[in-house]
Amino acid sequence: MRMTHATMYARVLAGDAAYNGRFFTGVLTTGIYCLPSCKARKPKPENVRFFPSCDAARESGLRACKKCHPDDFSRGADPVLETIEALAAEVRRQPAAFADARAVVRRSGFGVTRAFELFRQHYHTTPADLLLRARLDQAKQRLLTTEETLANLAFGLGFDSLSAFHENFRAFNGLTPAAYRDLRTARTFSLTLPEGYLLPYLRRALSRDLHSITERLVGDTYTSVVRLSTGPARLTLQLSPTRIDAEISTDSGPETHALVVGLLGLDQDATAFARLARKLGLARLVATREELRISRTPSVFDGLLWSIIGQQINFPFACLLKRRLIERAGTPFADGLFAPPTPAAVAALEPADLLPLQFSRQKADYVIQTARLIATGQLDLAALTSMSATRAERTLLAVRGLGPWSVNYLMMRALGFPDCVPLGDTGVTSGLLALLKLDERPDVDATRRLMTMFSPYRSLATAHLWQFTQPAPS
Ligand SMILES: [Zn+2]
Repeated sequence: MRMTHATMYARVLAGDAAYNGRFFTGVLTTGIYCLPSCKARKPKPENVRFFPSCDAARESGLRACKKCHPDDFSRGADPVLETIEALAAEVRRQPAAFADARAVVRRSGFGVTRAFELFRQHYHTTPADLLLRARLDQAKQRLLTTEETLANLAFGLGFDSLSAFHENFRAFNGLTPAAYRDLRTARTFSLTLPEGYLLPYLRRALSRDLHSITERLVGDTYTSVVRLSTGPARLTLQLSPTRIDAEISTDSGPETHALVVGLLGLDQDATAFARLARKLGLARLVATREELRISRTPSVFDGLLWSIIGQQINFPFACLLKRRLIERAGTPFADGLFAPPTPAAVAALEPADLLPLQFSRQKADYVIQTARLIATGQLDLAALTSMSATRAERTLLAVRGLGPWSVNYLMMRALGFPDCVPLGDTGVTSGLLALLKLDERPDVDATRRLMTMFSPYRSLATAHLWQFTQPAPS
């Protein structure tokens, strides 16, 4: 798709980082060229010329901007981002080496304000939260692989007390450290839901496609076929207002636990978002559903397929296409249920296989090409979850067929990043229109501007906006 001068200029005015690398902005009056996101003063449209590459801009006699470093970007280098990524990797590898969040900030070499800004921008979080999650992740690893006592573990990882360790562990994981250790051999486990958990919304999320052939909700029993690293397995959840009882048909306790925590959205900070909404004078956004959470997709590949299939068609038709793809490339399991397809199975298809299933030529191409990138190792889905949000976004935007909407949708629904907005989403704009009593539907730039107030919880804000104009589930 070729962009017009007006489109590119609008992206420059908006400082849209999603367009970095797609074109470069030459400013004829100053003789420099920039990224679309450059924070320098905006040039007049008549003084701007757009270039497809840094080389092309240099050949026209322009110099690289010292503020936004377009050459570094096009080489794939981003020194500030790389510093923060190296630090985050160090925290995750060795959380015990950091006494507290201040130690993380000191190690970054940036001032406190700048460090907080960078963690928020690139990891959607604070240094303290990143450290806490790193400690809890390491605790999970060690619970599964060692016989260390809980006290040793807690103090060794830097928790102030055994009870602080217990409390945090339970809040993020829905069970105690001891119960987590039992997952090594157990095929069943129970997760305690936080007080006020909105079961009706979970039920609605788990039964969005009433004709689904991978999952089914009957009464309080949810059954689905999930694809784990060991292969397809049946997952059964017994739903109740205070706890979820899970059972899996293979020996994959820890992996299943992570999947269920994602389905329930247990690791999201619903309370903090509700507090922010009230502080903004927007209590009506969260009224009656303060505990709303985003139900994550069972796998990243599942979310990826959904974000491509769901583009520009209505929901029932998207469900139909997805079912047909699963029937074509998935694996029959039992009781009429299918295991979702692997990337390799989809990669083996040809567009001609999908056209009779009512896929458009373009959708068929995108689905198959993306699956081939994964099957050949060019796109590593497992790596995405540990990347910085910025790196994950850039990696996904480079995939043909994934635009800013799909990428942000995927990041919030499949990867669990807390500060994403699927720009251009009609559910979001309808929600903003009603919530803020606007005169007209906000365009992409207005949406971006309005959503800034919800940072760093824009994913939860999106989920609330989706519900705002919908009837509550019964
Ligand atoms: Zn610049």
